[in-house]
Amino acid sequence: MHLRRNFLKLLSFSYLLFISMPYKFLNSASKKIINPDLSKAQKDIMFNEGTERPFTSDLLKEDREGFYHCANCGAKLFSSTAKFDSGTGWPSFSEALPGAFKTKIDYSFGMKRVEYHCSNCGAHHGHVFLDGPTTTGKRFCNNGLCLIFIPDN
Ligand SMILES: [Zn+2]
Repeated sequence: MHLRRNFLKLLSFSYLLFISMPYKFLNSASKKIINPDLSKAQKDIMFNEGTERPFTSDLLKEDREGFYHCANCGAKLFSSTAKFDSGTGWPSFSEALPGAFKTKIDYSFGMKRVEYHCSNCGAHHGHVFLDGPTTTGKRFCNNGLCLIFIPDN
């Protein structure tokens, strides 16, 4: 009787370990904080799927030529040539640099949206919509706090 109970305990323990593994993998292996200077707000967006308040980003007014990089790992994500004013209050881009992001379907808030993450560090950046005004038809709606702009020259 004792043996059987211990066996069941062991079985449920290994089952728990098994189901929690992909979760751990997703959170520790594919997402990593690289920049130790990230603010609490940045971490909340990049690693907790948060969203900054609209019309708060200084990058909305940025119109110089250059590239937008991941605030966590520094990877190059967008060219300034893809930036446009969507009127939504978040920096918007018609396309990302090749391989910059990986996408995932997000079902939160009762909506089906495509969210994207930095391919290099796994940090969440925003959502991509298919209502863009340019030839790509895409609108990358990016949290400004996740980006660092580096102007040319
Ligand atoms: Zn990154």
